[in-house]
Amino acid sequence: MLRKIICYLALDKGLKVANNAWGMIEAARKVASEQDLPFIGLVVHTGMTQEYLSILPFDEVYSMKLDPKSWFDAFCHVHAFEVCYQELGLTEGLYLFASHPLYQETAIRLAARMDGAVLTQAMEIYTDPMANTVVKRGIYHDKANEWVSFEGVKHQFVTLDLAHFYADPKQGNPINIKEIFLKNPINTRIQLISERSLSWKELSLTEARFVIGVGRGVSKIGDMNGILQLAELLNAPIGGSKVADELGLIPREKRIGSSGIAIDEADVYIAIGISGSSQHLEGIKGVKHVIAINNDPAAPIHQRSTIGIVGDYQVVVPLLVQALQQGEEGEI
Ligand SMILES: Cc1cc2nc3c(=O)[nH]c(=O)nc-3n(C[C@H](O)[C@H](O)[C@H](O)COP(=O)(O)OP(=O)(O)OC[C@H]3O[C@@H](n4cnc5c(N)ncnc54)[C@H](O)[C@@H]3O)c2cc1C
Repeated sequence: MLRKIICYLALDKGLKVANNAWGMIEAARKVASEQDLPFIGLVVHTGMTQEYLSILPFDEVYSMKLDPKSWFDAFCHVHAFEVCYQELGLTEGLYLFASHPLYQETAIRLAARMDGAVLTQAMEIYTDPMANTVVKRGIYHDKANEWVSFEGVKHQFVTLDLAHFYADPKQGNPINIKEIFLKNPINTRIQLISERSLSWKELSLTEARFVIGVGRGVSKIGDMNGILQLAELLNAPIGGSKVADELGLIPREKRIGSSGIAIDEADVYIAIGISGSSQHLEGIKGVKHVIAINNDPAAPIHQRSTIGIVGDYQVVVPLLVQALQQGEEGEI
């Protein structure tokens, strides 16, 4: 039996470690040490330098270079993993991927091809006293959690929800860095034609980094011009309170709170003219930073805010827009 833990490193466009992937590396390292196994980083990139690879925080690094056109194709990642797996001569292992669509698709396909099993969207991963890998993940739209483990599975694939794994960037000193050459270009029937980022109008509230919320304080749609400009500048979709929904400022499915949705993925939530009822706060529990704009200094939303701005939003929002526009021009 040759078992190892492979962390299939999540990269930004194939060129550098994705900003949110450092937590994944730490989680993989922890599990490797719990199971007393070597900790391998598999880096399938489009042009990383040897220097960059030599400071990645793994015991061993296996690197493979793909043509940039092939990098977006899960088929090529499946192929790269299989080549590495053969090179390592593994008979079993735990393989960690990011839950990003490209990597998740790769993990699912590999699990099927290798007669393994896959657990997706892990929020936590650890080893139980019986030395089994246990994964915690959300179910029923994250209204409940379940803990699952692999039973008698040789090839164990787990995709990690990176929002739940945070760590600062770290350098390491791998004992072995091996470059594996792939046949390039790999024969694939899929071609990337184009790629574009979603605009704030298309982004879902549950996936966006910046979210704007409007409430009764913004009573008329006609008064939303500045807010729409803010949304454009921050690429932030607009949701709001139950009252905003009832007033017709936002559609029902964009209501945030206990009877609406939770926006736990957001780094920043800008609450405009929202008092901060307990039901509304329920929907923003996981938000990292709240910026409140409210003309009442006693409004409860200020208690939940990182920054509370007391003032009329019709004055404050245009100032924010102006500052952001100046910032875009490099003046701030
Ligand atoms: C069973 C149940 C479920 C509910 N579920 C939800 C839910 O999922 N989500 C939700 O949001 N609510 C929910 N509610 C409603 C909740 O109790 C509140 O009534 C609601 O959140 C209040 O919305 P609001 O903050 O927009 O309005 P308000 O509470 O009226 O607050 C408006 C705020 O705007 C400020 N303001 C006014 N003018 C300006 C201005 N010019 N500039 C800046 N600020 C201004 C005011 O100072 C005030 O603080 C629920 C209630 C019940 C009973």
